[in-house]
Amino acid sequence: MAEKTLRQVAIYGKGGIGKSTTTQNLTAGLAELGKNIMVVGCDPKADSTRLLLGGLAQKTVLDTLREEGEDIELDAIMKKGFKGIKCVESGGPEPGVGCAGRGIITSIGMLERLGAYTEDLDYVFYDVLGDVVCGGFAMPIREGKAKEIYIVASGEMMALYAANNISKGIQKYALKGGVRLGGIICNSRNVDRELDLLRAFAKELGTQLIHFVPRNNVVQRAEIRKKTVIEFNPEDKQADEYRELARKIEENKLFVIPKPMTQERLEEILIEYGLMDLDSEYII
Ligand code: ADP
Ligand code: MG
Repeated sequence: MAEKTLRQVAIYGKGGIGKSTTTQNLTAGLAELGKNIMVVGCDPKADSTRLLLGGLAQKTVLDTLREEGEDIELDAIMKKGFKGIKCVESGGPEPGVGCAGRGIITSIGMLERLGAYTEDLDYVFYDVLGDVVCGGFAMPIREGKAKEIYIVASGEMMALYAANNISKGIQKYALKGGVRLGGIICNSRNVDRELDLLRAFAKELGTQLIHFVPRNNVVQRAEIRKKTVIEFNPEDKQADEYRELARKIEENKLFVIPKPMTQERLEEILIEYGLMDLDSEYII
């Protein structure tokens, strides 16, 4: 049997854009394909695995270390969720105290020491907070852990600004290491001409729009029940959208060093697709 190659994937994007929702739904889709997956939440909010764990309170790595010290077992910080997906939340410092990226550094180190990166894994997903790739938040890509990145964005201006900024960070680390951008995931906000805009934006960056995920209230209905759409309503068309995203990621061959654009160029594209009028007035 051919040896498995572990794909380590980081998901970036503006806060609230839908990284955690999309990551959990798409990993549920990959799990349905029989893939062995670990999801590492890299957001002090620690809500990256809630839908996979059915809301089961997952103690974060930082909290566990604070309360139990360094001498812990792997199952203290890693719980199995939907279809056996392994779930970890790195957690963060008390609000306002210390570097929020610190938790990621500590967690990845701890996972390595406790032998979490087993040979049977097909994927590790890092759900990373942040508009910019800086400090601890760059950790998964800086240390060469995640070689593959997807950015979640929408047709809203701030989401595209963030995506462009994140690309600048990726470019910096790509030139030093092997990290590559695998595509933009559009998590739709029902903005006019969103599909065309996102395609144009992705093309300008030198990448692809890997999938357009529609906005659908079934996501909220599932979320209230602490489930992914795939688990909550496997027959729903939104579940199929996440399955399609999973399949496209599984089959993806397009990995690039992004070419971030200038502010002016980004604004030109926004104007072209009608998001701004000619006085740069925000008209969404
Ligand atoms: P992030 O992790 O980027 O901060 P979340 O995944 O927590 O963002 O998403 C924020 C909110 O957006 C969630 O509470 C979820 O209900 C909603 N949401 C995400 N994706 C969709 C979608 N495709 N359709 C409808 N609601 C969505
Ligand atoms: Mg999140």
